[in-house]
Parts: sequence; structure tokens; C-alpha cells
Amino acid sequence: MAYRKPRVGIFSLSSCEGCLVQLFSIEDRIFDILGSVELAECRLLGVEDCGTLDVAIVEGAVTSKEEEERLIEIRKKSKILIAFGDCACHGGRFLVKDFDREIDANLPRVGKFKSEPLDKYVEVEYHVYGCPVSREEILELFKDLLLGRPHRPKSYNVCAECILRENDCLLNHGVACMGPITRGGCRAICPTFKRECIGCRGLSEDANIEALITIFKEKGIEIPEYLPLLKKYVGSETL
Ligand code: SF4
Ligand code: SF4
Ligand code: SF4
Repeated sequence: MAYRKPRVGIFSLSSCEGCLVQLFSIEDRIFDILGSVELAECRLLGVEDCGTLDVAIVEGAVTSKEEEERLIEIRKKSKILIAFGDCACHGGRFLVKDFDREIDANLPRVGKFKSEPLDKYVEVEYHVYGCPVSREEILELFKDLLLGRPHRPKSYNVCAECILRENDCLLNHGVACMGPITRGGCRAICPTFKRECIGCRGLSEDANIEALITIFKEKGIEIPEYLPLLKKYVGSETL
């Protein structure tokens, strides 16, 4: 039987489109990838076919009824749906979402808005974490999909990668770093450049928030307001 290239659609909901910029900035490999698939829908590139899809890559969070309905339509016509980036995976929870409270955005169109992850409305087969997503993980996912291999996100935390890079731990300098509870895969990029991890990749599988709070207290580090709030989300599919 003749090989048929998988039909791929790329979509943006509420986002800064930074994850799509990451995707298209893999200059040396993107043409290999695009050569292996049929790009059926992508507003950024002006491609619009509207047929059924093998893979839908969806960036951005759901912030309105219109986006909820659009996402459900994308899901209906796609065999595989990929949540692409922190906005899609967590609703931008670590960056724009204030957990249980609605944000008073003081916008002219809506006074308050919610920012929800895709899983809240549809089934999601794969998650690509990070704000923005990492180029290495994009390539890993595409390779796995094209070869029909299973794809699993990293189970270890950011500290595991930070220690491998022999970084001086920021906790010892009184900095509130979220590395111990955050999913790895970014090669500890922030602590490597002396900036604390803010948890953009979501919780690691073995995240122990209580233990991190204890460490912060022992080291005299001010506990960020959101950290105790995270505890109630452990084990939740929305985080
Ligand atoms: S995850 Fe970050 S980079 Fe990606 S769309 Fe959302 S805000 Fe932009
Ligand atoms: S700097 Fe942060 S990520 Fe690195 S080892 Fe310390 S706590 Fe972990
Ligand atoms: S170090 Fe933390 S905040 Fe920085 S990219 Fe990695 S997970 Fe995100």
C-alpha cells in the first residue's frame, strides 16, 4: 500500500504564539519535518484545507466559549491531538492563571476571564510542556509520531538536569527556585543562567510541595503565595 503522509493541522487559541515561533524556528530541521507530513491547516502560514486530520497541534489556552467550541471541532476531525506549550497543557496556570480566582483583567471586552487547559474540554493524546516548548522535545515528539513509537514526557524534575550541569544551587543563595517540584526536559535553562525556575513545565511526577515548603522555611526563603495553593492540584489532570 502506498505511503500516505500524515495530515497535520496547527492551531492557536489564546496565546502569545511563542510556541509556534519555536516550532518554525527549528530552521535546520523544520523542512525535514514538513517534508514528512502534509500541512493541511495553519493560519500563520496561510494554509487552510478544513478536512480531517491525523494530527492537530494546538497551542494556547481556552478563554472563551468560542474557543471551547473551536477546540471541540478540532478534536472531532483529528485522530491525535497535541497540547502544545504551557498555555495548552495548564491553561498558562503558572503564568497568567491565579488558580481558583478569576483574574480581573480590566479588559474592555470582558471584565474577567478564565484560562483553561485543553484537557478540561477534550481528550488530549500528547502534551508538550514548557513556556515556550523546547525545540529538542518538538523533534523528539515528531520523530516518535512518524515512527509510530510511544512518546512520554520526562518524569524527573528540573533539579536532576541542574545537578548534571553542576550548577550552584540557587536555594543555597536564598532564591525561591521551583526546580525540585517541576518537570524536567528544559535542561535547567533558567538556573543555568542564575534565574530561578518558575515551574513553567508543570509538576514533576514525584513533586513533593510540602517538602519544598519545609526547605524554604529552613533556608529562610519567603514562600511564594501560590506554592501552598499548588498542593490541592497535585494529582489533578488539570495541572
Ligand atoms: S506557553 Fe508560553 S510561549 Fe507558548 S503560547 Fe503560551 S505564553 Fe506563549
Ligand atoms: S538551582 Fe533550582 S533547579 Fe537547580 S538544583 Fe537548586 S533547586 Fe534544583
Ligand atoms: S527552568 Fe523552570 S521555568 Fe525555566 S524553562 Fe525550565 S521548567 Fe521552565
